[in-house]
Amino acid sequence: MVDQETLIHKTYPNIVSLGDVAGIPTSKTSAAVRKQLPIAVHNLIDVMKGNEPSKKYNGYACCPIVTDYGHVLLAEFDYNKDPDITFPFSLLDMSKEQRAAWMLKHDFLKPMFFYGMLNGWM
Ligand SMILES: Cc1cc2nc3c(=O)[nH]c(=O)nc-3n(C[C@H](O)[C@H](O)[C@H](O)COP(=O)(O)OP(=O)(O)OC[C@H]3O[C@@H](n4cnc5c(N)ncnc54)[C@H](O)[C@@H]3O)c2cc1C
Repeated sequence: MVDQETLIHKTYPNIVSLGDVAGIPTSKTSAAVRKQLPIAVHNLIDVMKGNEPSKKYNGYACCPIVTDYGHVLLAEFDYNKDPDITFPFSLLDMSKEQRAAWMLKHDFLKPMFFYGMLNGWM
């Protein structure tokens, strides 16, 4: 089992885990993996150098909730369920459905997944 902040295994400190398989109390999303990855890499290097893991993951996750055609509620939050806005629409009220979030999910992330990731280009 890994520590939910350092992502380092509690018993075997030479093991790091992230993503859906990590077993930490966050939402299983690619958005969470995006935040976990640099922390996992940094802490693994710390451990390999004989140091304590120095970076902490705050539980960031992002759940794009489609509310109708043309609108998405982009819920970004941390372990404490506090808002943790990272996308550039932070100037908008993200507690409301947004057309910009729909465009992100429908027009950008969807083709990125189907044409980019599934074909192994990214
Ligand atoms: C329908 C659906 C919609 C989603 N929508 C969103 C979304 O809008 N936004 C978002 O952020 N997240 C979304 N997610 C979640 C997101 O897809 C996952 O959280 C993310 O893919 C997890 O990445 P991962 O690398 O941890 O695991 P995975 O992407 O599952 O990668 C694990 C890989 O390991 C491989 N594997 C398994 N067993 C073995 C083995 N024994 N040997 C070798 N390889 C193995 C698998 O084939 C797979 O390629 C969605 C998930 C689903 C199912």
